[in-house]
Amino acid sequence: MKAISFAVCLSAAALLLFGCAHNAEERQLQEFITAHVAKVEPLSDEANLAHWNASTTGKSEYYDKLSRLQIRIRRIQSNPQEHAFLKDLRESGKIRDARLARQLDKLYYGYLQNQMEPGLLERIVEVDTRIQEKYNNFRGNIEGRKATNSEIYTILTTARDIRKRELAWKASKQVGEAIIDDLLELVKLRNQAARELGFDNYHTLSVVTGEQSLDELDRIFYELDELTGEPFARLKAELDQILADGYGIAPADLMPWHYHDPFFQRTPLVYDQDLDLYYKDKDVKELSEVYYAGVGLGVDDILARSDLYDRQDKYPHAFSHDLDRKGDVRILCNLQNTERWMETILHELGHAIYSKYHDPDEPWLLREPAHSFTTEAIAMFFGRLSRNAAWMQEMLELSDYERRKIEQVSEKYLRFGQVLFARWAMVMYNFEKQLYADPDQDLNNLWWDLVEKYQLIKRPPGPADAGWASKLHFTTAPCYYHNYMLGELLASQLHHHIVHNVFGLDSDDNVSYVGDRALGDYLRREVLGPGARYHWNDMIERATGEPLTSKYFVEQFAE
Ligand SMILES: [Zn+2]
Repeated sequence: MKAISFAVCLSAAALLLFGCAHNAEERQLQEFITAHVAKVEPLSDEANLAHWNASTTGKSEYYDKLSRLQIRIRRIQSNPQEHAFLKDLRESGKIRDARLARQLDKLYYGYLQNQMEPGLLERIVEVDTRIQEKYNNFRGNIEGRKATNSEIYTILTTARDIRKRELAWKASKQVGEAIIDDLLELVKLRNQAARELGFDNYHTLSVVTGEQSLDELDRIFYELDELTGEPFARLKAELDQILADGYGIAPADLMPWHYHDPFFQRTPLVYDQDLDLYYKDKDVKELSEVYYAGVGLGVDDILARSDLYDRQDKYPHAFSHDLDRKGDVRILCNLQNTERWMETILHELGHAIYSKYHDPDEPWLLREPAHSFTTEAIAMFFGRLSRNAAWMQEMLELSDYERRKIEQVSEKYLRFGQVLFARWAMVMYNFEKQLYADPDQDLNNLWWDLVEKYQLIKRPPGPADAGWASKLHFTTAPCYYHNYMLGELLASQLHHHIVHNVFGLDSDDNVSYVGDRALGDYLRREVLGPGARYHWNDMIERATGEPLTSKYFVEQFAE
């Protein structure tokens, strides 16, 4: 361990927590953590700022800076002696302090992922950054004219002209062909790195370092396929009839561009009414600010630092970003006053409150969500409200009559939306698993095989292209998509627990979640505050009385 220079400067709080009761190994680990955080925290703050600047301006200088900083951070974690030290400590069984053991787990998996030769690491980060830059600066083409993503969405959600829809849908996929060679290079580099660590491919490595198991994921997805297949086919046949009637064609002639989303991952707004009507004269930013304040999870400071509106050269989607684990949390959106953006801002602010309301006394390594899917769960829990009739009535000051009108369709939207999402997540999970198992296979046709199987959408005529690669997740969040599904499962589990145990109600019939501080108190105490203090499944068990289960999701949406 002489390779490491320990800066032993425990804070007063740390001394209280980690006083004399610790054994030699625990003291060694604490020293390691202190020195590690002293190196990594400033780099991480700088990288976070570079990421923010890159996303808001699209400028390559920020992408370069981000890339350089990421390489420096990963280089620290690629140190083989330190990795061996952490591995030995874990195997020694001597780290009995639970808070230290959690930090050790996080460090160990962080180092494990980066045990590869430095040249390979650098190439991975470079290719990754190159793709993101191309993606961010790419604009799809509609009849020789550049189109923004917002424009494409508008056409896909409103246009009745089929030719126009087809062109917009194709424009949304063009970036796939532009980045496919880089993406396949990246997949192969990631696989090479995983194999050097003894894993069969990068997908397996990701799941294991994410503290999850492949068998468990396969089991959850198999079960969901079984339970949602029939309800989905029924709901989709109904939708197809409505869509086909609207276009004046037969259901059998529906193509991917007839649905209202490039990947059919969201419910088309085609039933009796369009929920956008209720939002078009409102301000979704203001609604979200008022809403979160009402449940005791104020977000005014977050919104003040955020970048909320559409602009040339800016990242076209949305995200939440914790810049320093000390309260500088920001979101990026491209807001319009529509239901989709109402959902998105509620969702991103859900991530943001998870970052903001951590317990500041927890050590730096634990001032993070318990898992990436637990922060998705909180984001989804709030994102679902944009279609919830009781929530809409209170927030938008609607009459009982209007609420009933919304209820008649929103139930269906929610149900369909969730079941549809489960089917879409199956496409992503299974595709990515196979992508990493064999990147040289005919991926373009594999993609459509899975879309036909799980989403019941027909492939377009002609040779299959790499449109699938336009899903940026393959680049920026590889082997991550299953976490969105786990997030939905947990959002349902939390909903069930809050309604029945926190509010003490028999049903969720009149639950609007508006203005009830018990919701904010519960979430701060059980979920947001502890951060990564517990393994994700321990946190869930502490917060809801049982480990993660799909039963509340199925009960809520697929029965
Ligand atoms: Zn999210």
